[in-house]
Amino acid sequence: MIEIRGLSKSFGDLQVLQGVDFSVASGEVVCLIGPSGSGKSTLLRCINLLETPDGGEVLLRGKSYQALPKERRELRSEVGMVFQHFNLFPHLTALQNVMLAPSKVRKLEKAPLRELAMKLLRQVGLAEKADAFPGRLSGGQKQRVAIARALAMQPKVMLFDEPTSALDPEVVGEVLAVMRQLAREGMTMVVVTHEIGFAREVADRVVFMADGKIVEQGPAREFLAQPQSQRAKVFLGSEL
Ligand code: ADP
Ligand code: MG
Repeated sequence: MIEIRGLSKSFGDLQVLQGVDFSVASGEVVCLIGPSGSGKSTLLRCINLLETPDGGEVLLRGKSYQALPKERRELRSEVGMVFQHFNLFPHLTALQNVMLAPSKVRKLEKAPLRELAMKLLRQVGLAEKADAFPGRLSGGQKQRVAIARALAMQPKVMLFDEPTSALDPEVVGEVLAVMRQLAREGMTMVVVTHEIGFAREVADRVVFMADGKIVEQGPAREFLAQPQSQRAKVFLGSEL
C-alpha cells in the first residue's frame, strides 16, 4: 500500500531523516515509536507530502508521487491524517467539519454527503453531537470528530500522529477504541504513539525509530516483549 524508499529530509543543518526505507501492506497496522525528536512526525508528514522530502521516493499502491500541487492533492485524498491537536474548524459544527473536505474535493451532492458524514459520526459514537461546535466538545470527542473527518475522504490509508497525547487520561480510551475498531475493519494504518498497550494489542508490526533512522522493527508482541537493540531496550524500559 505504502512504500517509502531512501527518504531523507533536513531542516537547515539538521538531518532529520537519513535514508528511511519503510513499507506498509494493505490492511496492516504499524505503530511507529521512538524518542521525541527522532523524526516520527516528519516521516508521517512526508508520507502524505505535507513535507517535501529532500530525497527518496513515496509510492502509494505502486505509484510514485512527487511534491507537486496536483500529485499532493491526489495523494492526500487517498491518505487521511489525524493530528495530536485535532485542528477542527472552530466555526463549523461537527457535521460541517466532517463534510468540508469531500464537499470541496469530491464534489458530491449535499444530501449523500450529509448521509456519509452522519454515518461516520455514528461510527465514532457522536451522532448526537452532529450540530455541536468544537468548543462544546471534550478533547476525546474532538479527536473522534477529527477521525470521522479524515475518514470522510474515504482514504485507503490513515496516518495518526500521537492522537491521544494531548488528551486527558480519562478520554484516551474512547479514542483508542475507535482506532481499534477501524483496524479490525481492515483499514491500513500507521500510528505514531506512546500507547505501548495499544501497540501490543492492535499493531501487526512495531517500528522503532531513533535519530532519523529505523533502528529495529518486528511483529508487535515479539518486538515489545524482547527488543534486540540497546536503544529500543532503553526506550521501552522508560516507557513501561
Ligand atoms: P518526533 O515526531 O519523533 O518527535 P519530529 O519529526 O517532530 O520528531 O522532529 C525531528 C527533528 O526535526 C526535531 O529535532 C525537530 O525539532 C526537527 N523539526 C521538525 N520539524 C521541523 C521544522 N518544520 N523546522 C525545523 N526543524 C524541525
Ligand atoms: Mg512527533
